[in-house]
Amino acid sequence: MIIQNLSDLPKVDEFIRDDRLASAMETFGYTPTLNAVRAVIDDARQSIRSRCQPALAVPDYSPLTRDELIERVFGRLERESKPGIYPVINATGVILHTNLGRAPLAEAAAEAVHRAVSTYSSLEFDFEHKSRGNRNSHIEKLLCRLLNVEASIVVNNNAAAVMLALSALARNREVIVSRGELVEIGGSFRIPEIIEESQALLREVGTTNRTHLQDYERLIGRETAAILKVHTSNFRLIGFTECVKTADLADLAHKNDLPFIYDLGSGCLSEQLAALFPDEPTVASAIADGADVICFSGDKLLGGPQAGLIVGKERYLSSMRTHPLLRAFRCGKMTLTALEQTLRLYFDEEKAHRLLPVLSMALVDPTALRQRTEAFAEKLKETGIRASVEPSGMTMGGGTTPEYYIDSFACVIDPALNSGTPSPSAIESKLRDCSPPVVCRLVKDKLYFDLRTVREEEEASLIGCLLRAVRGAVPGTD
Ligand SMILES: *Cc1c(COP(=O)(O)O)cnc(C)c1O
Repeated sequence: MIIQNLSDLPKVDEFIRDDRLASAMETFGYTPTLNAVRAVIDDARQSIRSRCQPALAVPDYSPLTRDELIERVFGRLERESKPGIYPVINATGVILHTNLGRAPLAEAAAEAVHRAVSTYSSLEFDFEHKSRGNRNSHIEKLLCRLLNVEASIVVNNNAAAVMLALSALARNREVIVSRGELVEIGGSFRIPEIIEESQALLREVGTTNRTHLQDYERLIGRETAAILKVHTSNFRLIGFTECVKTADLADLAHKNDLPFIYDLGSGCLSEQLAALFPDEPTVASAIADGADVICFSGDKLLGGPQAGLIVGKERYLSSMRTHPLLRAFRCGKMTLTALEQTLRLYFDEEKAHRLLPVLSMALVDPTALRQRTEAFAEKLKETGIRASVEPSGMTMGGGTTPEYYIDSFACVIDPALNSGTPSPSAIESKLRDCSPPVVCRLVKDKLYFDLRTVREEEEASLIGCLLRAVRGAVPGTD
């Protein structure tokens, strides 16, 4: 029956007894189904009413049927029950894609989280001494051993780490920062604003492009609480530029008995990874240069969960440990568990490179990647999609190492060479509608798929999705 008038609309009580809706109730629950039925009938009522008013007439109105209403109820329930965060196939080749969750965790870390949170855990209980423990103590001891530092603190993210360090060490006093380092990192982390929020007073030094040691020397006075160096993670100055060497700044701070705080950003713990990016300082190099307080992220080049790590001298970290902000910035057990397992892998460099996805993806053997990409293009050809393998550049992303492109390979689909296919942007948007969605790069009307960031077990799903997007629906594949 076609529903044309308000009187044709089913009553909720009667409609809900339809057999097909009984199965919806089983899957989605009674109340959500009832609410969806009400909403769908309400919408239909609105559109019938608006059809009666010429000004609101819908030109492509198609007649409604009971089946169509049922379909709408299911569509609505499915949309509403879809989780907000779900897996995505990242074929961009950008390893630390901030919009896609930055670093994927090592399997050991993900499994440990699952185990630790499915039941009770030793989070704040010290079984050795039969007393109440500190949730951060396991991981802080581990960090000290790994990096050979006196003290460490873990908080929610690096923004919190920097804010805690400044609040504890420079509140109501001056912190000296080069004008070339007053940066904004994505997600509205801006150095001048963080300093203001921490109630320290920003004392700018030097110029945008050049800052000298004497500039710092001249500004140090009775009000100075600290010298802060910020790694300009996501941008580079080129040309007539100069900044002071980290070790020289540390010396200057120490001569004046001031803490030297270094916001390192990425927190690279792998020398092999750092070798790909000559300007990227490692945590080890910051320690060797004499930084007293070093802050870095857990989910950038380190390859762990979102976290902020502070390492350095006990003398300066002790005031952070008793600071009220620490309570506000503390990590949950999922983060601490994942971070602990990530850090443990670094005790064996070979293990870290093999098992930490960020490292294994960045350091993958180029020949192996090319061969894998060629085999993938071959598989596509078998399904009737023409694809080629082209050299491309890989970036780390996540606001790190901006000017470095590492040679990589991509499987390229040129819709112009595949007759009868939708437009490049239509294919791209169809790929995003897949389950799981696929994100790739669209450059000059060609689609680039970099398998570096695609797990091997995701390839079949990627091919299925490409078939639907490029060649239209294919029977027998879903
Ligand atoms: C990324 C970054 C931050 C912010 O770190 P989050 O962990 O994202 O809060 C702060 N400072 C620098 C230099 C960074 O690169």
